Amino acid sequence: MVGPQVREIASAAVVNPSTEGHLLRAAQTSGLKGLKDEARRVKARAVSETEARARYEQIRKQRSLVMWIDDNGVGRLEARLTPDALGQVKSALQRETNAVFNEARRTGHRECTEAYAADALVALVTGTSAIGMSATRTRSNAKTPPPTTMMHLRVDAAALRRGRLEDGEVCEIPGVGPVPLATATAAIGNAVLKVIVSEGVDVLSVANMKRAIPAHLRRALENRDEKCVVPGCDVAQGLENDHYQIDFMSDGPTELWNLCRLCRWHHYMKTLSEKKLVLTS
Ligand SMILES: [Zn+2]
Repeated sequence: MVGPQVREIASAAVVNPSTEGHLLRAAQTSGLKGLKDEARRVKARAVSETEARARYEQIRKQRSLVMWIDDNGVGRLEARLTPDALGQVKSALQRETNAVFNEARRTGHRECTEAYAADALVALVTGTSAIGMSATRTRSNAKTPPPTTMMHLRVDAAALRRGRLEDGEVCEIPGVGPVPLATATAAIGNAVLKVIVSEGVDVLSVANMKRAIPAHLRRALENRDEKCVVPGCDVAQGLENDHYQIDFMSDGPTELWNLCRLCRWHHYMKTLSEKKLVLTS
């Protein structure tokens, strides 16, 4: 057992001593990366959903993006994001990086993946992405542009119903880490997130926007709610669909009366924040 492994086990055992044996086994079978993931899950289960949301809100409030030129003249940027936002960025970058890599390979260039990822970032931010361009061209008549990324979020059905994580359960974005259960609730109906609800190892349902809201209903919804439905909010870009009367996990029907479109901020307010969002004018 080496230093970093001991540190991981110790940090998780502090919050839940009964997991030490389990973590020791994880250290043996899945290496440092696997151990880190497992330790993070143990810590995520140890905090209540309320604490997890409070922590999430703290991260969200302190989100930032700073850019500067360092002493060597290198252009640098550093972002601080919520885990789910990072997951979306990661997923979009991965897709674009692959495209950049394939293009480089066709021209016989070989550079490291990090270099391609940097090109991918520039392409996506400046709207010069090869993937994005073709998608826009072919769907120029569509009212809503197709989602360019699909991020997965894995959650146990029992935890979602209960509102709290128990041993062995997860609510996490693979490759990113644990997120509050409320993130999963918020994500259902969101075009860029695919929520995989599972019971043990069996996948119960894959809820995503396409599955949850048929095209004809989506069009009717877009026609009815051209702007965010919160009174006084004029946001018309990047609207997210929400099951607002009876939510999706409580078997809220996917019918027009039970759906509305909210801006990103108000959707967040409604599903993730403890604050109550008033939808009536
Ligand atoms: Zn709004």
